[in-house]
Amino acid sequence: MSKKGHNIGSHTFTHPDTKYKKISEEKLELECLESLKFIKQINQEHYSLAFPYNTGKVTPSIKANYDSVRLGWGDPIYNSTRNLNLYQIKSWSPEDMNKNGSKNVKKTIRNLPENSWLVFNLHGLDGEGWQPWSSKSLKDLLDFIEEQSINIGNISEIINLI
Ligand SMILES: [Zn+2]
Repeated sequence: MSKKGHNIGSHTFTHPDTKYKKISEEKLELECLESLKFIKQINQEHYSLAFPYNTGKVTPSIKANYDSVRLGWGDPIYNSTRNLNLYQIKSWSPEDMNKNGSKNVKKTIRNLPENSWLVFNLHGLDGEGWQPWSSKSLKDLLDFIEEQSINIGNISEIINLI
């Protein structure tokens, strides 16, 4: 995947339940650093982290070891490349494109402000994982993005742009 231009990011070592069960800051930090040991075997320009459930605290140690952290979603769902905080990258889990979500997702993409960057948070594909999309829906979306002349890049490419 890496050779095909993807960046492999960390999502912790065991995917602890950071939303409904309390996990200490130290334990979550260890989860993040343990995961990074494996990911560093892949030679990448930058290393990124996404907390499970988008919930966690960016400690000084995490900041020292990662180049970016995906943390939080909401309004606005896009990240401005002008004043981007690399340790608070927002992501968006759009509705399932297989149902009625396609129209809304495309409308949001069409209305993206200039100099903005949208991070899709897909957590499953073809029946596997959480709220999976189908490969067909994903391809349709990627084709649509390409038609809009919007660039698609991995996190390292975005970091290098800003
Ligand atoms: Zn997860």
